[in-house]
Amino acid sequence: MRPFIRTIETLELDGGTLCLNFVNSVKNRFEKPVYEFIKTPDDWILWSHRTQICSELTKQRLSKYVSENKEKALKELKRIIEVREVLYGIFRNIALKKSPLTEDIRIFNSELSFSFGFLNIEIGDNLETIPIWNYKETDLLYSLLPIMKSAYELLTTDLKEHIKECPNCGWLYLDKSKNNSRIWCNMKTCGNTMKSKKYYEKSKILAKK
Ligand SMILES: [Zn+2]
Repeated sequence: MRPFIRTIETLELDGGTLCLNFVNSVKNRFEKPVYEFIKTPDDWILWSHRTQICSELTKQRLSKYVSENKEKALKELKRIIEVREVLYGIFRNIALKKSPLTEDIRIFNSELSFSFGFLNIEIGDNLETIPIWNYKETDLLYSLLPIMKSAYELLTTDLKEHIKECPNCGWLYLDKSKNNSRIWCNMKTCGNTMKSKKYYEKSKILAKK
């Protein structure tokens, strides 16, 4: 069987919620150095489009922005990745039933205030509430706003009790199974990899006997 190759186009969105999919935009948390999928501003646009944060039209606008504002875009990307690592730190600690670091919460709050400063609502025809981002800039931070909203929602509901860490790749995911029994981020990729690793180890031990 060919090993599954993760790229921005193929990587599984198994986190169960937007903010955890964002945290999982590296190949494997246990590999050092960590293999990064979002290396360039264009990767960020691609990922934002893949996760449906930005439309085709926004994607084109952002690509034009990046080509005309390279240095600014790089600075924004640096901030975006820093926020991702803060979210990883907070959610991983919660998955391990530990308190997040004070510094991570401080940065989280600052980014939360920034993002929610642009949050408006509209009431639709069927009285549904629609969140609208009143963000006028065309820059890379736009895609960060709904991620912060997703992170806030996860942190302020009981759902956070269901955050788990995949023992094979370190991705974080929401275990929505009835009996809280999900072990892997993805059964097909990580579940099978671990199974075949165990099988390999077992056959090595048997061969030695
Ligand atoms: Zn995994």
